Amino acid sequence: MYRKLTATTIFNGYQYLPEDSVLLVDENGVIIDIVPTSEAGSDIEFFEGTLSPGFINCHCHLELSHLKGKVDKNIGLIEFLGKIMVERDASEIDISSAIATAENEMIQNGIVAVGDICNNINTIPQKTKQQLYYHNFIEVAGFPVEMANARFEKILEVYHQFKTHFPNTSIVPHAPYSVSTALLQKIVEYEENNLICIHNQETIEETILYQKKSGGFADFYSRFNISMDSFAPEGKTSLQDILPQFKINQPLILVHNVFTEEADVEYAQTFYGDLISNLYFCLCPNANLYISNRLPDVEMLFNNNCNFVIGTDSLASNDQLCIYNEINVLKKHFPFIPMENLLQWATINGAQALQIDNMYGSFEKGKTPGVLLLGEGVRRIL
Ligand SMILES: [Zn+2]
Repeated sequence: MYRKLTATTIFNGYQYLPEDSVLLVDENGVIIDIVPTSEAGSDIEFFEGTLSPGFINCHCHLELSHLKGKVDKNIGLIEFLGKIMVERDASEIDISSAIATAENEMIQNGIVAVGDICNNINTIPQKTKQQLYYHNFIEVAGFPVEMANARFEKILEVYHQFKTHFPNTSIVPHAPYSVSTALLQKIVEYEENNLICIHNQETIEETILYQKKSGGFADFYSRFNISMDSFAPEGKTSLQDILPQFKINQPLILVHNVFTEEADVEYAQTFYGDLISNLYFCLCPNANLYISNRLPDVEMLFNNNCNFVIGTDSLASNDQLCIYNEINVLKKHFPFIPMENLLQWATINGAQALQIDNMYGSFEKGKTPGVLLLGEGVRRIL
């Protein structure tokens, strides 16, 4: 038995299909085929709106869900990070119930897979229920070079706990302003790491740190007596400084990119060459507006053919975990971007980035991508 679904429009993960297309899906959500109405026979279900594969949320921090509404808006990234450090402790029960509520919110909002940042093991119990697919990015930070070994050993313990449940787990650096060259090298060289992400150019302070070894992060480090002695930037932007430390055959997701400039993109394109499809630019517009009321130069990135994916970031910097909402914010601020592209970023591109495009991201035979109905809001059909 299978259902025959059609709608005002069908988006298949790559493009809108001809008007008379019908999607055939079996009771387990497996895509059987897409056929013209003339071949579909009777019992076709018609929906007002757009049918789309389920959304991929490429950047989230599920473990921070209990911080919803705890941090003021527009306070800038450095103050935001300070608030998170102060507020992140809470009772185990508050943390786990917020995680369950947030996951449920993602499911309701049509998200089927998540790239999730983890600093601890708090999300494991919820994730083992397997209601959503997760790629777990086990995140490590440590700016002074002498911390590299100890920090890496410590995060390996978290990594191994995730890895026993989830094969799709990586160790990732937090951000250029918070990892030393030595720590980054350990992460990149770690043999099981097939996919890495990093918070990139989220604040102008990161650029100032790398270009002048001064600014808000330098002040922050001196206030907390964190040594910057081993940090010897060469006056480039952070992205141009750190990118050569990555391997071009190791897929990398750059998250935020608020202060990424055209020269950075050109540098990345030269560095990656034919393997540029391994570099993804993850947009989290609601989080950027929440933290600093500023958005990346999406027009420049778009004109340079960047490989986009979309993330919600956490409930500490977003009022909801909803990729459709992120799409609508991008549409509002960058109306020249066709809806077809935005949907692609949220579906097949995200699935390719998380290396799950064999199952998710498009209506193709044999996949189980989920089926959403998009209109004013999102409704799950399957
Ligand atoms: Zn983040």
